[in-house]
Amino acid sequence: RLEVRHLCRRFDGRTVVDDVSLSVMPGQVTCLLGPSGCGKSTTLRMIAGVEQQDSGEIWADGQMLCDGRRTVPPEQRRIGLMFQDFALFPHLSVAENVAFGLRGAGGAAGGRVDELLCKVGLPGKRDAFPHELSGGEQQRVALARALAPSPRIMLMDEPFSGLDNRLRDGIRDETLALLKAENTGVLLVTHEPEEAMRMADEVALMRAGRIVQKGAPYNIYNAPIDKDALAFFSDIN
Ligand code: ATP
Ligand code: MG
Repeated sequence: RLEVRHLCRRFDGRTVVDDVSLSVMPGQVTCLLGPSGCGKSTTLRMIAGVEQQDSGEIWADGQMLCDGRRTVPPEQRRIGLMFQDFALFPHLSVAENVAFGLRGAGGAAGGRVDELLCKVGLPGKRDAFPHELSGGEQQRVALARALAPSPRIMLMDEPFSGLDNRLRDGIRDETLALLKAENTGVLLVTHEPEEAMRMADEVALMRAGRIVQKGAPYNIYNAPIDKDALAFFSDIN
């Protein structure tokens, strides 16, 4: 279970993440939903440990990851991070890209790489290079790489938005089902209300750095907290 408490971050004197608290339960999807620039990616980067918070605490399974005084480095957090542009290394094979996710986990174990490629449905592609794969296949490789260190939480920053519409829903549903089967909690960033409504167990609605409303998708959709939230949801039908 991931627990984020009172997280804050300022850039150049401007507060972009303002007292954000949220949690992610094992095997569940929490959606961080909000318009462009509201601070979603910055929040995720702090949880992953690749960006420092100014204040607040991050805990996972009762382990303190960062409280402003002490901080656990990203590679020891067991938190996976997937970005929009899945950023495979173009000069490395599929197997080498996945093995990169195992660095710091005691060297590249070939058996583990093959196991991960099987899991994401790409057993025959270990020696291919990224440019030889479709967008959907590349996304699966990125998933295998993110799964390599057995993360307890997967952070996903609009990882499906680079895929074409037909592929997108299938891969997204498959990916989330796979993570659920492993009992991995997911924090999924999106700026599309429809996606949050479909995928989330819990929605955190973010605006200008703050979480303005939290709850089950159905409750948020039916009882938006104010007229801005209502407007945000109004293009769903
Ligand atoms: P989007 O949906 O467009 O990806 P977001 O919600 O992910 O938006 P963030 O990337 O978290 O938004 O950015 C929040 C705000 O913080 C933006 O105004 C951005 O310009 C600012 N910001 C982010 N990183 C930095 C940085 N390193 N230095 C200065 N400002 C930054
Ligand atoms: Mg972003």
